[in-house]
Amino acid sequence: MSSIADNIRSVTRRIQKATKAAARADGSVSLLAVSKTRPAEDLREAAASGQLAFGENYLQEALDKISALSDLPGLEWHFIGPIQSNKTRAIAEHFQWVHSVDRLKVARRLSEQRPQDLPPLNICLQVNVDNEDSKSGCRLEELPELAAAVSELPRLSLRGLMAIPDPDQPEDRLRASFRALANGLDQLRQQENVNGPLDTLSMGMSGDLELAIAEGATLVRVGTAMFGARDDSR
Ligand SMILES: *Cc1c(COP(=O)(O)O)cnc(C)c1O
Repeated sequence: MSSIADNIRSVTRRIQKATKAAARADGSVSLLAVSKTRPAEDLREAAASGQLAFGENYLQEALDKISALSDLPGLEWHFIGPIQSNKTRAIAEHFQWVHSVDRLKVARRLSEQRPQDLPPLNICLQVNVDNEDSKSGCRLEELPELAAAVSELPRLSLRGLMAIPDPDQPEDRLRASFRALANGLDQLRQQENVNGPLDTLSMGMSGDLELAIAEGATLVRVGTAMFGARDDSR
């Protein structure tokens, strides 16, 4: 079995290769280690290899790990799971990034609850690019209005967009989904009533990160390729 350190090296090589193949600048794609269901020791091992950004889907599990790893300097916590509005306070207090904001109510609460002594919370709006019934995320058509409203909230920094297109669809469809998200971000950048860095396209996972990078991903969220197969039967 390969170690987490080996896996990080191989994922990093994949990212570098795909970045180069897309004629993009070296270092323009960052790696988020998706650590849901993994024990804190696995994250500690990843951190020892220099991987400091972690993505978590389940709040209580994440809070336990944040606490267990509080001795490690420089960790960056990203919340990437569906958000119930009664969970926003703990997210606003303990995370640096949230990728899964898909409605104004949740954004308002995160802004109101972000502690004053912390920098603004980095936000990606999650888009349901394939219009799948079962998926979280706003529709592309809702994005102009939602982004304008979110970008006015004082304690949030609107960094960009996130999507989880169905990885099992044919490659041309998947590519079109990534491209639709990239176009969505381009449009927001041209929209006068949307403020914020708008520098982040959070898309691509273990199986499709090359395609996502070819279409402009600036952050890929990788779980399986880094930590091995996961038991999702929770
Ligand atoms: C689980 C998960 C990932 C990672 O998926 P892998 O296929 O294991 O790389 C990425 N993004 C989100 C939102 C996830 O829930």
